[in-house]
Amino acid sequence: MPSAQNAPQLEAVVLAADEASSSGNSSRSPRIIPVEATVAALPITRVLLVDDDELAFQLVGLYLAEIQTDRYQVDWKPTYQEGLEALAREPYDVCLLDFQLGKHSGLDFLKESQRRGTRTPIVMFTSKGDHALDLEAMRAGAVDYLVKGEFGPLMLERCLRYATERARTMEALRESEERYVLAVAGANDGVWDWKLPGETVYFSPRWKAILGYGATELEDHVQEWYARVHPEDLSRLKADLAAHISGVTGHFENEHRILHKDGTYRWMLTRALAVRDRAGTVTRMAGSQSDVTQARGHDPLTRLPNRLLYLDRVARVLERAKRRVAYGYAVLFLDLDRFKIVNDSLGHALGDELLLGISGRLQACVRSADTVARLGGDEFTILLEDLGEPADATRVARRIQESLTHPFKLAGREVFTSVSIGIAMGSPNYERPEELLRDADTAMYRAKAAGKARHEVFDRDMHERAVKLLQVESELRRAVELESFRVHYQPVISLDTGRITSLEALVRWMHPERGLVPPDEFIPLAEETGLIVQIDRWVLQQACAQVKKWQTRFGPAHPLSIAVNVSKRQLGQSDFVDGIIGAIERCQLEPEHLSLEITESAIMENAELATAMLEQLRERKIQLAMDDFGTGYSSLSYLHKLPFTSLKIDRSFVKRMGADEDTTEIVRAIVTLARNLNVEVTAEGVETKEQLAMLRELGCNHAQGYLFSKPLETSAAEELLAREPVW
Ligand code: C2E
Ligand code: CA
Ligand code: CA
Repeated sequence: MPSAQNAPQLEAVVLAADEASSSGNSSRSPRIIPVEATVAALPITRVLLVDDDELAFQLVGLYLAEIQTDRYQVDWKPTYQEGLEALAREPYDVCLLDFQLGKHSGLDFLKESQRRGTRTPIVMFTSKGDHALDLEAMRAGAVDYLVKGEFGPLMLERCLRYATERARTMEALRESEERYVLAVAGANDGVWDWKLPGETVYFSPRWKAILGYGATELEDHVQEWYARVHPEDLSRLKADLAAHISGVTGHFENEHRILHKDGTYRWMLTRALAVRDRAGTVTRMAGSQSDVTQARGHDPLTRLPNRLLYLDRVARVLERAKRRVAYGYAVLFLDLDRFKIVNDSLGHALGDELLLGISGRLQACVRSADTVARLGGDEFTILLEDLGEPADATRVARRIQESLTHPFKLAGREVFTSVSIGIAMGSPNYERPEELLRDADTAMYRAKAAGKARHEVFDRDMHERAVKLLQVESELRRAVELESFRVHYQPVISLDTGRITSLEALVRWMHPERGLVPPDEFIPLAEETGLIVQIDRWVLQQACAQVKKWQTRFGPAHPLSIAVNVSKRQLGQSDFVDGIIGAIERCQLEPEHLSLEITESAIMENAELATAMLEQLRERKIQLAMDDFGTGYSSLSYLHKLPFTSLKIDRSFVKRMGADEDTTEIVRAIVTLARNLNVEVTAEGVETKEQLAMLRELGCNHAQGYLFSKPLETSAAEELLAREPVW
């Protein structure tokens, strides 16, 4: 190693320069100071030697004594167990570790100490020529290695010093920035140390190994580095270094390409901190270097290309498509259905395993020229090149879905999964890779909305719809902030008395340009975005307050209830029950005068939570109505199990009643069953006198529909109530 030319005294000279300026001496020229004079100011480095060979201890002591006796304090532990305990107990600056400790290997020790969370840098002794072990030690987290019988005092001292300095630098970097913690803290960093001013740079064996060189190759000269940096990256690198040295940046960090011995360029991340004397002059700069070529282009879990690399490949295909007529290609966007459930129930480790399994199957479904990439989470994307015809893309999608119908075996369990796929076909309209990904993503959402486990091909309409949806969403958000809604009230009539007994609150959106927007046009979006929770809370408050006013005005001779719709999103809300109770208490409305309308499907989606909530509400005497009965699963078992007080027959039944014998019979059966269960029945959407007569004949309790009244705004509803109509 060329660095062996450096005599110990020379080291002391540089250090003395620091000392000189810190003690107020402005002279910059290094003075020769005896070693002894400098050491007092330096911190003691505590070294733990774990080696079952006492000779090693004596040798280390001898070597260090030859350099700087007082700077190092060496403790020796001869066994695996004692070593681990000492490391956990004492704050050592560095640990020297033998590669074999009785029946344990040094690697075991490394791994175990890391598992216990030690931050002490570990330098491994290895045996001559065991290159595989060197590598493995570095991978397992050793910061450096020394080949037994091949190092002398200087090399040992250097190695210890750089290990401790590196640890300190790392600590400082960890604090100052976390972005690349993973890349840097990994065991693969090389170390460089630059004495300034000048061009002498120490490159650690690992630094050289990253570039394919042996420990004794390359000079201690900055040109060894600069000359290998990609011409396009060199000026940036120099500028970043200069910025840190001049104090513009708090730490140095740069990514650049560097030429490997094998002739290829690799991406390096290098980070460093300048060491300054009291006067602020930089005397050295120590840093790390790690190979981030993989990280820049590949997903660490599946080793598939990541978004960056993927977009790069799509960009190339776009270029190719420009030059070649009718070049067929497609982008597939895949999202696992219900991956979150798998992850939450099986744990992240198995979740990762599933992702790995899926990545394998995806690769098996495409040709080798195609690119499968992972965008993150449970999102994958595929680039199909050289397609004969568009149908080839959908064929691949079908093949993928077929291959996922077979379960994965995870921890002895069979796990089933499916995927929703959106496809964007290549077209001359595409300019940038992101556009293809965006459109495939939009199509994927359509596939999800259409029931998952399927694929959809993107078309222009879809894009327009997506843009429009986005616009409506932001408008709706604003409307929620400004409370730009209105509640309309539709009367419900008792078929016994023919009089209004209750009103259903139905929300409308007051849109600045479109006027009153009916709920069917915005409730689905409000549910998807979660805005429904705020909307419904507002409707509930308005409706309860309004019916309380009417009760006061029309008196006990005309008892009135209010019915309010509950969305499925609310049933998932833990404060749902409290919210309802709070609202009726604020209005001093009696709970039996509030009826909550809930659809069967809303309950199905949150069965357990919903059941508990409905029971709590029922205990408080709040009425519960099953809405839209007949449209969903129409399972009477929910009526049995849950404390519903009434059910509302969907208007599609009422509409078909007289004309269709079967429907009439179904309605009759529902009414009979409901009566047996002690549940009241309301018929929705009654539009004709014939329907009314038939419902009376069947024994239905209540009716609601245009025959009586459309939903009315507050004042109109109040006028209607005042007229006290009878049907
Ligand atoms: P829904 O709960 O089934 O409400 C009844 C719907 O039927 C209302 O539509 C009403 O105007 C309509 N309707 C009533 N009688 C007749 C009739 O005789 N013929 C016809 N053709 N239709 C009739 P609207 O107001 O457009 O509400 C639609 C749906 O939006 C409601 O269906 C409900 O599911 C939802 N919705 C309305 N307001 C709210 C709300 O405040 N919160 C929540 N979560 N959903 C609401
Ligand atoms: Ca309703
Ligand atoms: Ca309904």
